Amino acid sequence: MERLKHDLVIVGSGIAGLRAAIEASRLSPGLSVAIVTKTQAMRSHSVCAEGGTAAVLYPELGDSVESHVFDTVKGSDYLADQDAVEKFANMVPSEIYQLEHWGMPWSRREDGRIAQRDFGGYSYPRATFAEDKVGFYEMQTLYDTCTKFPNIIFYQEWFATSILAEQGEFRGITAIEMKSGEFATIAAKAGIIASGGAGRLFSFATYGHSSTPDGMSMALRAGIALKDMEFFQFHPSGLIPSGILITEGARAEGGILLNKDGERFMKRYAPGKLELASRDVVSRAIITEIEEGRGFRDGDGLEYVNLDLTQIGAQRIKERLNGIREIAMKFNNTDPVEKPLPVRPVCHYTMGGIDVDIDGATRIKGLWAAGEAACVSINGANRLGANSTAECLVWGRITGGAAAEYAVKRSDSPPSDGQALKEEKRIFDEIFHGKGGTNPYAVRDELQRAMDKGAYVFRTGEGLAEAVKVVRRLKAEDYLHCDDSSRRYNTNLTNVLEVESLLLAAEAFLAGAVARTESRGAHARRDYPKRDDVNWLKHTLAYHTPEGVRLDYSPVKITRFQPAERHY
Ligand SMILES: Cc1cc2nc3c(=O)[nH]c(=O)nc-3n(C[C@H](O)[C@H](O)[C@H](O)COP(=O)(O)OP(=O)(O)OC[C@H]3O[C@@H](n4cnc5c(N)ncnc54)[C@H](O)[C@@H]3O)c2cc1C
Repeated sequence: MERLKHDLVIVGSGIAGLRAAIEASRLSPGLSVAIVTKTQAMRSHSVCAEGGTAAVLYPELGDSVESHVFDTVKGSDYLADQDAVEKFANMVPSEIYQLEHWGMPWSRREDGRIAQRDFGGYSYPRATFAEDKVGFYEMQTLYDTCTKFPNIIFYQEWFATSILAEQGEFRGITAIEMKSGEFATIAAKAGIIASGGAGRLFSFATYGHSSTPDGMSMALRAGIALKDMEFFQFHPSGLIPSGILITEGARAEGGILLNKDGERFMKRYAPGKLELASRDVVSRAIITEIEEGRGFRDGDGLEYVNLDLTQIGAQRIKERLNGIREIAMKFNNTDPVEKPLPVRPVCHYTMGGIDVDIDGATRIKGLWAAGEAACVSINGANRLGANSTAECLVWGRITGGAAAEYAVKRSDSPPSDGQALKEEKRIFDEIFHGKGGTNPYAVRDELQRAMDKGAYVFRTGEGLAEAVKVVRRLKAEDYLHCDDSSRRYNTNLTNVLEVESLLLAAEAFLAGAVARTESRGAHARRDYPKRDDVNWLKHTLAYHTPEGVRLDYSPVKITRFQPAERHY
């Protein structure tokens, strides 16, 4: 077992992780900061973000922070913590300018100022963008900036496996160096989990295949709850058949949704905002159209509706939506300049995550979580598009600053070996050298199918119970073994660990979803179609215990906006 040591260790090199590393280094240049990432840093899912980052930039033209707060709270179906949303909306604008100063090539208006486009659920066009590749440019800008700090050390293609904590205090993490297959402890005074979302719980997903809930499962196993995991976002426009995202920016630029009768059906569901109602509303409308026989069906039986961008015009599509044009041509053989695109709702975002407070702190002293892995919560039951990259920037900054301040004041207290040796034994003796008859990839596929079927846009108690049964059965199977016996780059081993994480997170998700007998935001129960504020205006907390999931609840912080019925 190799023993490494830093002051701060960050798991994840997406927007949240990189922003945290920069903030910690800016405040305390003497601090040794490690970024551990299972992919190459620039292959984190953040590079896929397409449409924009929400911020109030032009109050003089009619936008306001209060309006950003209200739109976000309304979008969340009133489950967001309003104090956190206020902090968020106040802090994002300076992040946009900060990125600009670090070199971010924001798209521009005619007058040279930063351009913004409309996005779902907003009452002002406040999505700041860079063509339709906002995540790629943000990641490039942050990565470039990280390289200016010699104290930031990247551990690329290192797979983190567990959190080391003693007497409720963070001590470090364990990880596998994938290149050599060596197991290591990375001792640190402070830690930040920024390991992204859990999107690969579903097979039809916009996420990269690396988006598995490893960090969430590390937190669960360390005794931290996952909050509001039953709230998963289904984005209205996943391209058939792969599920690759067609950004909401396409609808913001003038794209419309049509059913097989050529009807612009959103007029019936959201007469005010039409295609730019919040994502939960648009996704439910599409599924309803399909279920009522007004969808299309392709040769493989896949059902969809049309997203028509032809009226936007070739020039604007090439200028502002070139990325999705290329995707549509490569993956569906369709040029959106000429023909509508076939789309249906696709798993896109994890509203829930590691339970943290408004400053991103977990219940383990010295450990924070940020970005999509965390649940602060500003997104509640439904996130508005363009708020996630913004959240990653804001809580990357907050947690990076807090962790640095904490680490500077602490003296070294490295972890004792006991917990790490146990983890090494679990991974190498039990899994790497383990034997078993069940193919872990078949387990992953079956889990995804069960989630696609039981926990998609509309849910029922019966469907969820069926998914629970599948997860329980799969957990009991002997899939925790590795057929590839080589140590170097053993992705078979890390894939098995990912399947284990998926099953743990699925259990937490389903327990919360079965219990929540109401419909709120993205959690739409056919058997309980109404929102129930009397009983369910509260956050779900799911803990991992040897007997299974233990549920608890915590109150929602309401400051200015009393829950009201949502209309778009
Ligand atoms: C296709 C797509 C388009 C999107 N478009 C937008 C948009 O336009 N606007 C917007 O606001 N949001 C958008 N989102 C959402 C947003 O991009 C993400 O929520 C956000 O980028 C997540 O960033 P993150 O830093 O939390 O984590 P990620 O970028 O997901 O990175 C996770 C990191 O954790 C590391 N990691 C995970 N597990 C381990 C482990 N076991 N060991 C070591 N490292 C590990 C990974 O290697 C990676 O570096 C989009 C999402 C998708 C999927």
